[in-house]
Amino acid sequence: MTTAYKIIDHEYDIVVVGAGGAGLRATMGMAAKGLKTACITKVFPTRSHTVAAQGGISAALGNMGEDDWRWHMYDTVKGSDWLGDQDAIEYMCREAIPAIIELEHFGVPFSRTEEGKIYQRPFGGMTTRFGQGRAQRTCAAADRTGHAILHTLYQQALKNDAEFFIEHFALDLIMDDEGACRGVMSWDLATGILHRFRSHLVVIATGGYGRAYFSCTSAHTCTGDGNAMVLRAGLPLQDMEFVQFHPTGIYGAGCLITEGVRGEGGYLTNSNGERFMERYAPSAKDLASRDVVSRAMTIEIREGRGVGKRNDHIHLHLEHLDPEIIHQRLPGIAETAKVFAGVDVTKEPIPVLPTVHYNMGGIPTNHRTEVVRPTAGNPDEVVPGLMAIGEAACVSVHGANRLGSNSLLDLVVFGRAAAIRAAEIVTPGQPHKAIGADASERAIARFDKLRHANGTVSTAELRDEMQRTMQNNCAVFRTGEVLEEGLAEMHKIYAQRDNLRVTDRSLVWNSDLVETLELDNLLGQALVTIAGAANRPESRGAHAREDYPDRDDKDWMKHTVAYCSDEGEVAFDYRPVHMTTLTNEVEVFPPKARVY
Ligand SMILES: Cc1cc2nc3c(=O)[nH]c(=O)nc-3n(C[C@H](O)[C@H](O)[C@H](O)COP(=O)(O)OP(=O)(O)OC[C@H]3O[C@@H](n4cnc5c(N)ncnc54)[C@H](O)[C@@H]3O)c2cc1C
Repeated sequence: MTTAYKIIDHEYDIVVVGAGGAGLRATMGMAAKGLKTACITKVFPTRSHTVAAQGGISAALGNMGEDDWRWHMYDTVKGSDWLGDQDAIEYMCREAIPAIIELEHFGVPFSRTEEGKIYQRPFGGMTTRFGQGRAQRTCAAADRTGHAILHTLYQQALKNDAEFFIEHFALDLIMDDEGACRGVMSWDLATGILHRFRSHLVVIATGGYGRAYFSCTSAHTCTGDGNAMVLRAGLPLQDMEFVQFHPTGIYGAGCLITEGVRGEGGYLTNSNGERFMERYAPSAKDLASRDVVSRAMTIEIREGRGVGKRNDHIHLHLEHLDPEIIHQRLPGIAETAKVFAGVDVTKEPIPVLPTVHYNMGGIPTNHRTEVVRPTAGNPDEVVPGLMAIGEAACVSVHGANRLGSNSLLDLVVFGRAAAIRAAEIVTPGQPHKAIGADASERAIARFDKLRHANGTVSTAELRDEMQRTMQNNCAVFRTGEVLEEGLAEMHKIYAQRDNLRVTDRSLVWNSDLVETLELDNLLGQALVTIAGAANRPESRGAHAREDYPDRDDKDWMKHTVAYCSDEGEVAFDYRPVHMTTLTNEVEVFPPKARVY
C-alpha cells in the first residue's frame, strides 16, 4: 500500500507537533539550543487556539501587592482538589517567575501599572497567605493575552531558525518494536503528499479535545489529535474524566467571556436579580473556582431561577463598571458580547451558561515533560522518544480542576522544560536508529481506509451524535445511571466508525477527510472520558457525581489511566498522585476537607 502514496522523508533531531503556546515555546527553545527542530501544525501557527486566550497568565510576581510562589502552589494544589502532582506544581509555580520575565524580554506587550511594571489582575482561586487574602497574580495583555504571547513566540521561533511544516496534518506516531517513539507521519494538506519524519524526540503539543462536546469555548480545530495518536500507539491517557466547564460561555454561541470580567468586578445574577454566589461561596463569591461557580449556576437553573424565556441561563453584569475600564481592560469582551449576544455591556447584562472549556486529562508525563506509563514495577516508566506538553499533556499540574490563568503558564513553563530536557538527552546531529520498512504502514492503512470510507453515516451526523451524547450524559452534574446510559450510547456511536461515508477521495485540500480524521480521533477520547467518569465513584474537582457527593481520598486519590483498543474496549489502570515536592521549601499539604 505504501507504494500507492508518494512519501517524502525527513530527519530532524526533534519534531514538535503543534504550534500553540506550548509547541512554539518548545520549538523556539529547542532551536535556540542548536537542535535541528521541525514544528508540524495543521493550522497556521498564530491561528492555534492559544490565540483566543483572554484573561491572562499567572505568576507570583507581586507587582500589585504581596505575593509568593508558595502561595500560588498552595492554591494550585487545593484547586486541583488534591489530584495534582505536587512536584510538578512546585516546579510550575516556582519557574513561573523566570518564565514570565523571559516572555517580557522576548517582547510580549503586557499591560502595565503606573510604575511600568507588568499589570496583574485577581483571578478565581488565587489567594495570598495560604487562602487568607486575594492575590493579584494574573499578568495580562488587556484581554488578548494569548494573542500577544503566541505572536511573540512565533517570531522567536523564526528568529532561531526552527523549520515549520504548516498546514500539515499529523496522522500517527512511528513506534518501534521496543515501544519507543521514532518519529511521526503527516499529510501535507496543500499538496496531498505524505511525509515521514524521523526524530530522536517527538513532542506532542496538539491541545485539548473540547470538540467532543456540543457546546465548548475552544476552536473547531481542538480535536485532541495527539491524544488519539497516543491511544492508537497502545499508550494510555490520564484523568480524562475531568473536564472543566467555564461558568461564562455566551448562551447559544459558546464563546468565552473571560473570568477576568469578574476579576474586574463583574457579577452573576439569577431571575430574582439575586447575586446568588454569595450563598454558595460567601468569601470568594463570584471569584470562587470554576467548578464551584459552574455548579452553582447549574443548580440555580435546575431550581427554576434561570433567566430568559426558558429560564435556562444566567446574567453576567458589567454595566456598573466605568466604561473607560471596560474599554481599556476588556475591549475584546465588549466586542464578543456585541457580536455573539447582541448586547452592549455598558448597558445590559450578558446571557451566559457553563460551557466546556478545558481538558485536565491528557497524556501522562513527569515534570520534565517525558511521557510516562505505569508498568508492573514502576508507575512512572518513561516512554523513550516521546514528550507531551500543554493542554494535550497531563503533567499533572491541574489535577481535577484547573485554576484560571494556570494553563497559559503551564504552556510556557513546560514548553521551556521540554527544551531544557531535550538538550540534556539529545546531541545535535546524532545518528538515527533504523526504523523498519513497515513502521509507517499502520498510519497509512488507517488514512487510506478513512479516505475510501463508503458507509451510510456522514461525518457530520456521527459527530453530532457524539457531541450531544457527551453534552447530555457527561456534563457538570453526573450520576451512575446517566453515565452508564451515555457510555452504552458512545459504544454504539464508536462502532459506527466502520460505517462512515467520505465523499471526497482527493488528496489536496480534502476538508471532508480532515474532519473525518478529526472525528475518528475524538471518538476514542469521548469514549475514555465517559467510561472514566462512570468508573470513578466520588466527587472531586470538575467531576461531580450526585450519587457520590463526597471526595474519597482513601480509595480514589489516584490518577486514572485509560487504554482504548481499536474495537473500543476501554481498560483502566492507576498511578499514585505525587504528594512529595521537589525541594523541602514547601511543606506537603495534608488533604483537607473541601473549604471554599
Ligand atoms: C477561549 C479560550 C480562552 C482561554 N483563556 C485562557 C486564559 O486567559 N488563561 C489561561 O491560562 N488559559 C486560557 N485558556 C486555556 C488555554 O488557552 C489553552 O489550554 C491553551 O492555549 C492550549 O494551548 P496548546 O499549546 O496546548 O494548544 P493549542 O493552542 O490548542 O494549539 C494546538 C496546536 O496543535 C496543532 N495540531 C493539532 N492537531 C494537529 C495535527 N493532527 N497535526 C498537526 N498539528 C496539529 C494545531 O495546529 C495547533 O497549532 C483559554 C482557552 C480558550 C478556549
